[in-house]
Amino acid sequence: MAKPILLSVDDDSDVLRAIERDLRSQYGAEYRVIGSDSPEGALDLLKQLKVRNDSVALLLADQRMPRMDGVEFLQQAMGIFPSAKRALLTAYADTNAAINAINHASINFFFLKPWDPPAEHLYPQLDDLLDDWQASYRPTFQGIRVLGTRWSPKCYELRDFLARNRVPYQWTDVELSANDPDTKRLLEALGPEAANLPVVLFPDGTKLLEGVPADVAQKVGLRTRAQTNFYELAIVGGGPAGLAAAVYGASEGLHTVMIEREAPGGQAGMSSRIENYLGFPTGLSGADLARRAVVQAQRFGVEILTQEVVGVRAEGPYRIMKLGDGTELSCHALMIATGVQWRRLEAPGIDRLQGAGIYYGGGATEALSCKGEVVYVVGGANSAGQAAMNFAKYAERVIILVRGESLASTMSQYLIDQIKETPNIQLWTHASVSEAHGETHLEEISVLCSDTGKTERVPASAMFIFIGALPQTDWLASVVERDERGFLLTGPDLIRDGQRPKGWTPDRDPFLLETNVPGIFAVGDVRHGSIKRVASGVGEGSVAVQFIHQYLSKV
Ligand SMILES: Cc1cc2nc3c(=O)[nH]c(=O)nc-3n(C[C@H](O)[C@H](O)[C@H](O)COP(=O)(O)OP(=O)(O)OC[C@H]3O[C@@H](n4cnc5c(N)ncnc54)[C@H](O)[C@@H]3O)c2cc1C
Repeated sequence: MAKPILLSVDDDSDVLRAIERDLRSQYGAEYRVIGSDSPEGALDLLKQLKVRNDSVALLLADQRMPRMDGVEFLQQAMGIFPSAKRALLTAYADTNAAINAINHASINFFFLKPWDPPAEHLYPQLDDLLDDWQASYRPTFQGIRVLGTRWSPKCYELRDFLARNRVPYQWTDVELSANDPDTKRLLEALGPEAANLPVVLFPDGTKLLEGVPADVAQKVGLRTRAQTNFYELAIVGGGPAGLAAAVYGASEGLHTVMIEREAPGGQAGMSSRIENYLGFPTGLSGADLARRAVVQAQRFGVEILTQEVVGVRAEGPYRIMKLGDGTELSCHALMIATGVQWRRLEAPGIDRLQGAGIYYGGGATEALSCKGEVVYVVGGANSAGQAAMNFAKYAERVIILVRGESLASTMSQYLIDQIKETPNIQLWTHASVSEAHGETHLEEISVLCSDTGKTERVPASAMFIFIGALPQTDWLASVVERDERGFLLTGPDLIRDGQRPKGWTPDRDPFLLETNVPGIFAVGDVRHGSIKRVASGVGEGSVAVQFIHQYLSKV
């Protein structure tokens, strides 16, 4: 933890050195001693310390300095660090001015120069001041801080990214805490830069204005550049299927890289409680499953990159991927485990307010912000049911909107039972959202009721959409064969009328999980005909590694 600071200011360098030496020898073990030879420089320094979230215990300033005297400096410094103790260093001739400052300018003490011996003329009084300061001192947060506003889509995207990558951070909503004195002081210290939200402040004192996930990823040590440009096995997508393939591939000796554009865990990472995964009788959260799998993969030496793969091509035995930052990586075996992404809800106002009250998926970041509010969940599948159960812990009321007449045909019975037993969850059947309203954030939704034909307009501050998902595989379109909805064809699905796929060269049929391009495999939800479950994704990811060994033995 960073030590609190003792700051002395004196334009006379000999005096400054002497006071720093005496402070350091007595208090150096518990405090960081800093000196400045100008009050203006010291004020700039204090602003930087404020932005870094450092604590200042003592400000000690010489009274006689050109351009700004000690009293004026201490008064300005008080605006930045109001709880720091303030003391003046004065010559005998300035005693009256110093007494006056104690009475009228909130100065705590004054010391006469010279203060020798310090054990008599400096330390006893400073001990008193510092004891007093320590009594109300609360250590400040030392990690990453994000300043933003709840309804800003950019802020939401960044917070969601940090949360899903399990990067601890402290969030300050600058609108909600506009009257909080500490937030005000921080914004003043940042000056005009504070307008570039989200502002990300790092413990080393650096900051990112209008921070975006890719820049923050680099800064917090999530790897965005590969260690080499060739791997035996490259996996695109870090959901359950990709993670399983990574663990099995690397544990069986393959030099493996896994490339994930958001955060390991995929859709499962958004699940608040997976109750049907073997070996976890009380269920486990998707975030927990992902965290364990990442540790396991890293233990076997898997390299994890935070990047999006945007293109692929085959050149002889090499499968070459193009990444979002323009760089390329090649491999012998490529596994596509990119899962599915939420289907968009088509209605006026939805796109405009996405990230500002309207969210696709679990919105782990938002659950807490929904405290005491009315939340709408759109969709009738298990993912919607799990989310409703999660939001019910915080929200005053959760309303599930479904088009059909019940949840029976779309949701597992255990979830239907849990929902029935949760008094603040309400089911609204025959209902579909026809419009979202609000200027800067969601305020109301219009709901079309198919049984009455009427449209109701109701207040809503948050709406979470779970209406099924589709693969995003356009980047593979000219290389890998897909079905009409974009799912990737593998193994027997590629054999038509007994014929192997066009351009196929090996003297064998495609392996069970292999696509029409030898050495490119597809597993998990992205695969045509797959069972959309965590366990089946994990199963496919691990089984595919066996085929990859067979493939690699002949490359
Ligand atoms: C809220 C919710 C709750 C669920 N609950 C359960 C449950 O209780 N039990 C159960 O069995 N199943 C559950 N499921 C389904 C289960 O999570 C999925 O079947 C499973 O996650 C599929 O795994 P996957 O690895 O194939 O794909 P995904 O989990 O979709 O992961 C794919 C990953 O690939 C990444 N990606 C995509 N394109 C690219 C690209 N071009 N470059 C780099 N990365 C890319 C994505 O960011 C994503 O992280 C739930 C799903 C949801 C959404």
